[in-house]
Amino acid sequence: MQELLSYDDVLLLPQYSDIRSRSEISLQANLTNKLFLNMPIISSPMDTISETAMAVTLGTQGGTAIIHRYNSIESQSRMVSMARDIATAHNTDSIIVGAAVGVTDDFMNRAISLVEANVTFLCIDVAHGHHINVKEALQRLRSEFGEDMHLMAGNVATLEGVNALADWGADSVRCNIGGGSICSTRIQTGHGIPGLHTIFDCAKTDRNVAIIADGGIRNSGDAVKALAAGADAVMCGSLFAGTDETPGKVQEETDGTRWKVYRGMASKEAQVSWRGSYSSYEGVSAQVPYRGSVRHILEDLERGIRSGLSYSGCRTLDELHARAKFIRQTGAGQQESGTHIRRRSL
Ligand code: IMP
Repeated sequence: MQELLSYDDVLLLPQYSDIRSRSEISLQANLTNKLFLNMPIISSPMDTISETAMAVTLGTQGGTAIIHRYNSIESQSRMVSMARDIATAHNTDSIIVGAAVGVTDDFMNRAISLVEANVTFLCIDVAHGHHINVKEALQRLRSEFGEDMHLMAGNVATLEGVNALADWGADSVRCNIGGGSICSTRIQTGHGIPGLHTIFDCAKTDRNVAIIADGGIRNSGDAVKALAAGADAVMCGSLFAGTDETPGKVQEETDGTRWKVYRGMASKEAQVSWRGSYSSYEGVSAQVPYRGSVRHILEDLERGIRSGLSYSGCRTLDELHARAKFIRQTGAGQQESGTHIRRRSL
């Protein structure tokens, strides 16, 4: 049986750098020449993460959000066109906004409406992407919208899965099964692969397809490791949860603490709210601390990723893919890698 590694099992080797300032570093992500991001960060298509406000903030900072599909076609399309219009109103270049679709029922009508609402790219959003339904949906979307439309799809956890989706028409593939913070797929089904190994494996593809490291990214260090392992961008849910830009109300306790809900889209709670009942569930719902604007989180994330490239002596993501060197750390190394001062919290 193989031993496969995840984020905490490894570190990146610091290397000689001639970079004098983090501003010399470009975080531009070229997702197969059809989609360029100034920052390789995408927010998850989840109903407690990505609607218009998240799309506008992430889009204006250089990343992108994928507006979730757990709503009516009209409502999702309105969110897309509002996000695209608000950016235009700020006199910036129009921002990049993605939107999710499923693979059954009215998904083609949804996709057509989203394209009419001026969506930049579409994302087939299902739990098990290496599947005949995804093959058929990708082929239909490609023949309806032609080669110019960027199609993202997922999720898969193997090189075989990435190659299949690329051959069926995907331009980018969400990689990772069972690694999300709110995910219970591995508990419920016994299936999955440690998140960082998934990226190492999927990034070996010889197809012209971008790799999106989806889920399990807890901080900028994890994002740097995912990018160094070969991802072209990272997708985050929990990192952005609890912020002003997420849907849902802030709940205030009597002791003054403030919270927002973050939930897996396959959790019982999410299923009940979008279709009135639940069947098998593979996610959990949680309250997370309220954290103000996502802008500050994005700024920290960006600074951390720039520093990460600088420690590897790299000015671009392509250089990082080529030059990064990983080392395995032991349990003692993991302990040393976290802050470990004995202290009383301030
Ligand atoms: P996080 O950034 O670690 O919180 O992970 C977010 C990712 O988890 C999303 O982008 C999805 O790929 C995945 N996800 C969302 N909802 C569920 C669920 O209910 N079960 C399993 N995975 C989920």
